[in-house]
Amino acid sequence: MQYRDFGKTGIKVSALGFGAMRLPLSGENQVDEKRAVAMIRHAIDQGVNYIDTAYPYHEGESERIVGEALQEGYREKTYLATKCPVWKLVKEEDFEEVLDEQLAKLKTDHVDFYLLHALSRDRFEEKIKKLKLVEKMEKARADGKIKYIGFSFHDSYDVFQDILDYYDGWDFCQIQYNYVDLTHQAGLKGLKEAAGKGLAVVIMEPLLGGRLANPASHVKEVLGSEKSSVEYALDFLWDQPEVSLLLSGMSDEQQLEDNLLYADRSYIGMVSEEEHAMYKKAKEVFDSMALVGCTGCRYCVPCPFGLEIPEIFSYYNMTAAHKEDEAKAGYEALAIKADSCKTCHRCEKECPQMIKISQVMPEVAKVFEKIQA
Ligand code: SF4
Ligand code: SF4
Repeated sequence: MQYRDFGKTGIKVSALGFGAMRLPLSGENQVDEKRAVAMIRHAIDQGVNYIDTAYPYHEGESERIVGEALQEGYREKTYLATKCPVWKLVKEEDFEEVLDEQLAKLKTDHVDFYLLHALSRDRFEEKIKKLKLVEKMEKARADGKIKYIGFSFHDSYDVFQDILDYYDGWDFCQIQYNYVDLTHQAGLKGLKEAAGKGLAVVIMEPLLGGRLANPASHVKEVLGSEKSSVEYALDFLWDQPEVSLLLSGMSDEQQLEDNLLYADRSYIGMVSEEEHAMYKKAKEVFDSMALVGCTGCRYCVPCPFGLEIPEIFSYYNMTAAHKEDEAKAGYEALAIKADSCKTCHRCEKECPQMIKISQVMPEVAKVFEKIQA
C-alpha cells in the first residue's frame, strides 16, 4: 500500500480509503454483513487505514456494520471517518445527541475524521451557521469525541469557496472529483484551493457512481487498452499531489482486490502527457453522451409515488450509451414508470447532484415512448 500526506495533520493515509456506502448486498438493499465485515478487515490487513461511513448509508446500517468490522483489534489499526447528518439537526443540542448515537453504533469512543455531511448553500446557511455547528465540532474535539474537523460537499464552486473561507480550522474536506467532473461542483479549482490552504482533500465518486467503471464503448475506445477503465479513472486522481486519498465504495471482493493492486501501483506524477490528452478526449466523448448526472447514491428514495428514481435514470443513461436493448428491457420491467412523477419535488431536496428530477422525468418518459413505438 502507498501512503500519502493528509494535509497538515502529519498523518499518513493509505492512497485507497474504504467507502462503506455500497457494501455487498444479500437481498434487495440488505447488506451481506458477513461479507462486508470480512472485506473491511481484509482491506485493513492489506494496509488500508481509512474507513469512511456516514449516518444515512445503507439506511443507518453502515455505521453499525463498520462498528462490528472494527472489533477484535481492527479499530486500533485504522482511522475512522463518519459524518454529521446536518439535515437531521433541529436544535443545537441535537449535534451531541447524534454524535453519541454514532459513537455507540460504531462501538468506539472517538471518530478520527468527522465531517459535516453533504454541505450545500442551504445547509451552510440554515444548519452550519444557525446551529453553530463548527463550534459544536470544536467542543466535540475538546471532549475527545472527534479528532479532525471537516466537511463533505455537493454544490457549486462559489459555495465551496464561502465554506472554505468561513472557518480557518478546517483540517480536511471531501469533494466529488474524477476525470469527467473537472468543473462540476468544487472541481479542479476547488481541489487546488483547498489543498493550497493546507486542507487534506478526500475524493469521493472517483468512478462517478460506477459510470466510469464500465463506460460506454465510445469512451472505452478512447481510453488505452493497457489498464482497466477503473484503473484509468483512479490513476487520474492518484497522479495529483493535491489528492490525499480516494474513497471507493467497494461492493465485492474482486473490486477490493483490484483496487488494492491499483493503489499499490499508484504515485504522484504517474500520468504521462499522452495520457492527459487521452483523459481530455474521454471527457469530451463522455460529455457528449451523458444525459443525466445521477450517481446512484439513492438519497432521493423512497419517492412517495413509488418511482425507482436511480434505476429510471440508469436506464435513461443507457440509451445515450448505445445500450438501447438493455435500457428498454430494464425500463419495461419497472412497475412504475417516469410518467407517474407527480412533480412533488420531495426528491430534489435530497439530491446532492442538484438534478431537477421532476423536469427530467417527462423527458425520460418521452424517450422510452419513442423507443417502444
Ligand atoms: S418529484 Fe416525482 S420522482 Fe420526485 S419524489 Fe415527487 S413524484 Fe417522486
Ligand atoms: S437522482 Fe440524485 S439523489 Fe437520486 S440517486 Fe441520482 S444522484 Fe442520487
